[in-house]
Order: sequence, then C-alpha cells, then structure tokens
Amino acid sequence: MTEHPQFDRGSILGHIWYALLFRCPRCYKGAMWRGPLRMNKFCPSCGLAFEREPGYFVGGMYASYFVGVFLTMPVWMWLIMSHQSFPVFFAVTVGMVILVWPVAFHYSRVIWIHIDYFVEPWAFQSNETVPGLTVEEKRHPVMPLR
Ligand SMILES: [Zn+2]
Repeated sequence: MTEHPQFDRGSILGHIWYALLFRCPRCYKGAMWRGPLRMNKFCPSCGLAFEREPGYFVGGMYASYFVGVFLTMPVWMWLIMSHQSFPVFFAVTVGMVILVWPVAFHYSRVIWIHIDYFVEPWAFQSNETVPGLTVEEKRHPVMPLR
C-alpha cells in the first residue's frame, strides 16, 4: 500500500460510531440515507459522491453477511439449544430474514464505504475521478474538511 500521510483517515472508533449513525465517512456529518431504500447521491454536508463507481456497493455484501450473522446468531443459538421443531425453525428463520434484511441492507453500504475510506482516504478528496458520474456530477463541489 502506498503511504499518503497528508490525508486524515479518522479513527476506527470514529468510523464505527458514525457508521452506526449512517453518517458520511469523510465529514461524519451528512446523512447517507434520506429514507428507506433512498440513498443520497452526494453527502449533503461535504458533497462527496457516495457511490464511488458503478457497482461500488457490491462489496457491501460482505458487510451484509456479517451484520446478518451478528443479528441472527443469538436467535439461532436459542433455536438449537431449545431443540425447536422444524416448523418453528422455519417460521423464525423467515421472520428473521424479513426483520434483518432492511437493517443489513442499510448498514452494509455504510460499513463498506467507511472501510473503504479508512483504507484509502486519498481516493475520497474529489468527485473528479469517480467513474459513472456525469460531467456535471463530477463537478459537484467537495468541500475541504475543517
Ligand atoms: Zn460528508
């Protein structure tokens, strides 16, 4: 990995906290989501384009998997330890999928972009190099931090 010491990547605890609040990985202020299933294209606070390239959030599936396991594991453990019947297993599993899916979907994108920002903060300094944006969108201003 190339070192770029001039860019502040933030702290791990800061990224964890602001990912829990669905905030921008760069400024920690702008909301990434503006409603169920509607993500902001740009950070309302600093102007960062959230979808860094077409298919950018496919990697969020890894985060989605871990969020799903984290949220359902206690219930799975209870089902196994209490020797529940197959219909109960099936009904609880379907219920968990319905309940956990929206949470995992939203957090997977937020977690993914926070990890990416922590690893390569220098790639988030402008929208000029983001493929998939129109020419006008690439000119969308990204405010300097602090
Ligand atoms: Zn921002």
